[in-house]
Amino acid sequence: MDCLFCKIAAGEIPSNKIYEDDKVLAFYDIDPKAPVHFLVIPKEHIASADCITAENSTLIAHVFEVIAKIAADLKLEKGYRIVNNCGEHGGQTVGHLHFHILAGRSLTWPPG
Ligand code: 5GP
Ligand code: ZN
Repeated sequence: MDCLFCKIAAGEIPSNKIYEDDKVLAFYDIDPKAPVHFLVIPKEHIASADCITAENSTLIAHVFEVIAKIAADLKLEKGYRIVNNCGEHGGQTVGHLHFHILAGRSLTWPPG
């Protein structure tokens, strides 16, 4: 399958890694939208949030445990935003489920 984030997860394309275990990878976004901007992905190919099911939701829960751990490690005590863009109207450009973590400045709400 020709999937950018599967290739990053497999190490075929380099990334600036923050955290890795056998199921999850976190790496800095190549085009940061905030002073701190990284992505957390399941290594398994899941196309989008639409594809979260009872069969893979334990993995998604693990993604959120990893986010909390990294936020503590990076001392993001002033807060951060977790974003998932799903589908065309959600602004998803890479078809492998990923969560953006944005931090380091006050973020506006609501999004555009
Ligand atoms: P989406 O638009 O699908 O929610 O987010 C995709 C994100 O992946 C974007 O923020 C984009 O900057 C990032 N991205 C795209 N290609 C690469 C890459 O090759 N390496 C890294 N680290 N990030 C990428
Ligand atoms: Zn993939």
